[in-house]
Amino acid sequence: MIPAAFDYVRATSLDDALARLAAGSGSAKAIAGGQSILPLMKLRLARPELLVDIGRLGELRGVRRLPDGRVAVGALTTYDEMLRDDTLRQYGLLVDALPNIGDVQVRNRGTIGGSIAHADPASDLPAILLALDAEIVARSARDERVIAATSFFEGPFTSVLEPDELITEVRLPGGRDDVASAYRAFEQPASGYSIAAVAAIVGGHDGTRWNFCSVGVTGVGDHPYRASAVEQAVREGAPFDEAAVHASQGQAVASDIHADREYRIHVASVIVRRALEAAAVRLG
Ligand SMILES: Cc1cc2nc3c(=O)[nH]c(=O)nc-3n(C[C@H](O)[C@H](O)[C@H](O)COP(=O)(O)OP(=O)(O)OC[C@H]3O[C@@H](n4cnc5c(N)ncnc54)[C@H](O)[C@@H]3O)c2cc1C
Repeated sequence: MIPAAFDYVRATSLDDALARLAAGSGSAKAIAGGQSILPLMKLRLARPELLVDIGRLGELRGVRRLPDGRVAVGALTTYDEMLRDDTLRQYGLLVDALPNIGDVQVRNRGTIGGSIAHADPASDLPAILLALDAEIVARSARDERVIAATSFFEGPFTSVLEPDELITEVRLPGGRDDVASAYRAFEQPASGYSIAAVAAIVGGHDGTRWNFCSVGVTGVGDHPYRASAVEQAVREGAPFDEAAVHASQGQAVASDIHADREYRIHVASVIVRRALEAAAVRLG
């Protein structure tokens, strides 16, 4: 398929990119790794008049530890760069997920910022950022704002990001010794996209209950979400298999040729249980 005609410009700096997006008043779009925007353009599901290439803005790339112990991941950091980064090894759920995202090309080109901005309801990183209570930093020519991951995703391919905003970095809370995490997915074998995938973090078991539980789910609803009912049940002492039954509670569960609603609800509860168990095992 051939995309509709468009103009292309390579941004020379972040300010240059932001100015061009602001001037484009909605008809300009950023391109980072191109792993989602280009297929959409070829299918003519996206028809930007101007592509602003941010792919070479070094200031948006890389992982650094912040003075308060948090970890900042630049928006242009690729899956492969995250996979090879020593600082990120402390996040078990990322170590689980990254090697299985897409194929070699997707992992070499696809970026954390692009994945989040694209807001695919079945993307892997959003569930992880939700479970971690990460923050997303968005900048425009007007201002900069910090958005909680839990407030970011709104619907299928829809987020709170404005057309003239760029994600500049993602901030993860510092690793904790008293919690452990895991990521488990059940994928549609042909596309590799998740029918249900779950990022789970547990900690502080006092003999009867877990004091800390955080669960992010993707592939199930119309956007990635926190499974609050599961978290509450686990904190109240429910066994993982009982808590996991609430995996899709309150969600508009997707139904497609690969998994109808009923099947997806069942798979979601199985994967939530597996992710919780895997995280708990890591705590020893
Ligand atoms: C074959 C294939 C398999 C895949 N498998 C998986 C998978 O298993 N799991 C998974 O999660 N994903 C998968 N994906 C999707 C892919 O991981 C991401 O959607 C992609 O990497 C997005 O990053 P990008 O840099 O390529 O974004 P682009 O394609 O360049 O951009 C995507 C969107 O984000 C916007 N954007 C990009 N960067 C920014 C920024 N910094 N600020 C604001 N907006 C921005 C663009 O304007 C565009 O709307 C797959 C994709 C392909 C082609």
